[in-house]
Amino acid sequence: AKEQGRNSYQYYTQALNDTGQDRLALEYALNQALEREEFAVYYQPQIDTRTGAISHMEALARWQHPQLGFISPAQFIPIAEQNGAIVALGHWVLRQACAQAKIWQQLGMSITVGVNLSPRQLRDGALLEMVDQTLAQTNLETSLLELEITESATLHNLTQAQSVLMDLHRMGIGLALDDFGTGYSSLSYLKQFPLDTLKIDRSFVMDLLTQDKDVAIAKAILELGRGLDLRVVAEGVETEELQQLLQNFGCQHMQGYLFSRPLPALEATHLLQTQQST
Ligand code: C2E
Ligand code: CA
Ligand code: CA
Ligand code: CA
Repeated sequence: AKEQGRNSYQYYTQALNDTGQDRLALEYALNQALEREEFAVYYQPQIDTRTGAISHMEALARWQHPQLGFISPAQFIPIAEQNGAIVALGHWVLRQACAQAKIWQQLGMSITVGVNLSPRQLRDGALLEMVDQTLAQTNLETSLLELEITESATLHNLTQAQSVLMDLHRMGIGLALDDFGTGYSSLSYLKQFPLDTLKIDRSFVMDLLTQDKDVAIAKAILELGRGLDLRVVAEGVETEELQQLLQNFGCQHMQGYLFSRPLPALEATHLLQTQQST
């Protein structure tokens, strides 16, 4: 038993070392990735199921490393968040997304882009000016931008977050509370923040067909949205059965693989154009 204990201990530290090294390697690569133009922005549509039309596109960062291959945002966003690289990356994603929304508008399509804002960005004193400048440089109307924040984003300094969000709202920028229901103090945020949209987290959506608890939660969020006059978007809708069920609950806005995976800009544009002509 003693021998086994020692082995498992060694195994454990080995695993820790590996993770630490992977992390360091990733962190190092991440710091160069922007300059080396290894990032791309993909776009995933949000459908208004009443009309079938795409109303919004969420911008999602993609990283293709020349040696390491495709690295998921679930891996690199937390690292970028910790080492601060998210500020430059987030700025870059915002600029791409705003420029893309402008192109769509020039093609005759009014599509709002959703851009994820990390907690660190929300705490960054230069955020407002950065957003303002980016909108000016891309010549995009503020109403065609929606920023997605997560509930944890605001924990550090609620008053500061509230004041930044108020300013963004006054500029005419839309605000979405992302992954709703998974964070902290959701309900007080609904009261304190000038929100336009609630996104029901995928974890409440995926098992709706079998889990009564998820049904109760999803219905309650939709009811909250109606009462507070918020657009409610269900994330992670993968099947027609799910779409039908959500529609029965009065959910109008959906995002998920059923409609489309996140697409590179050109493919997203093609999708919008085929929709427009039908
Ligand atoms: P999120 O903001 O909740 O984005 C939705 C995620 O769900 C995306 O994962 C999307 O590809 C995935 N998804 C959409 N529909 C479905 C579906 O039907 N089924 C399943 N299984 N998944 C679906 P992705 O692109 O891997 O991004 C993961 C997370 O990384 C995002 O979650 C977001 O928190 C973060 N992220 C991505 N890009 C950015 C960015 O530019 N800035 C910041 N701050 N965070 C980002
Ligand atoms: Ca999001
Ligand atoms: Ca989300
Ligand atoms: Ca999520």
